[in-house]
Amino acid sequence: MQVNGKSVVDIKSKFIGCMLGSAIGDAIGEIAFSYSRRSDLLAYVAETSKLRYTDDTAMAIGLAESITTIRGLDQEHLGATFSKNFQKEPWRGYASGPPTIFSMVKSLGITYVEAAHRLFGSRGSYGNGAAMRIAPLGLLYYDSPDLYEKASASAEVTHAHALGMDGASVQACAVAMAVKENPQNDFPLQTYIQQLWDFARTTQIREKLEIVKEYIQRKTDPSIVAARIGRSVAVHESMPFAIYCFLLHPKSFEECLFCAVLNRGDRDTLGAMACAISGAYLGAAAIPAECKAKLENRAYIEELAGALADLNERSYA
Ligand SMILES: [Mg+2]
Repeated sequence: MQVNGKSVVDIKSKFIGCMLGSAIGDAIGEIAFSYSRRSDLLAYVAETSKLRYTDDTAMAIGLAESITTIRGLDQEHLGATFSKNFQKEPWRGYASGPPTIFSMVKSLGITYVEAAHRLFGSRGSYGNGAAMRIAPLGLLYYDSPDLYEKASASAEVTHAHALGMDGASVQACAVAMAVKENPQNDFPLQTYIQQLWDFARTTQIREKLEIVKEYIQRKTDPSIVAARIGRSVAVHESMPFAIYCFLLHPKSFEECLFCAVLNRGDRDTLGAMACAISGAYLGAAAIPAECKAKLENRAYIEELAGALADLNERSYA
């Protein structure tokens, strides 16, 4: 498509790029636990016939299924969808939190949200499990004033700590802003980080975003940044570092991916989060064809992305 003589990546391509990008980042990040040098990782990806995703993408699929089925967000429907998908594929590498919640709902007859609040001594989880799967919600509500409320409510189904919800909401905002930006233009680095900072509501995440802002101006080596920010399963560590990787390489899906998965830490989830943003910004065509061809369930993931784009156009519940 051409607008004023400039090519513009259409919205559906951005939705598909986000969903496929996140799944590919997840799958390749998981492989990076075994092949931690770039050359070894590239060689493995070239030889393997299938890129298999983990719980990050399984739960993103569940979120996309739930919000497209009921045309909006319902926490109990979302929890039940996650639980059903877990029963079908419990081997996807889930952390202990979600399965514990699913069992509590069944055995105690409480809601998913109540169960999530009872985890970790009734503090709830501040892991990155809600942020890792948030991409479809960031897409559907990318132009909605309710983005924060929808994202944090979707997080609360499994990650009820204020940080867990805030981290997921900021990641949703990162995806939403990436959808809105035209990749033909220079990337508005400072505005983008400032808007994320404004969107965040916890001190811990704002402090990490300030570090991102400081280091990105100097394009500091990501290994140094990762050591300062952290890249663990705690959302205020891994999510800001994933954003740093995107900001360091906004014009290259591949470089963003390698930055996210080759600096140790929670590699699959770092890949899922960074590449969701990159795909949403650059669109599906920017993702290497070989990776797209090898991704398991590619057609279904693309179908869900298309359903989200259609639903967004027709306006949401
Ligand atoms: Mg995973």
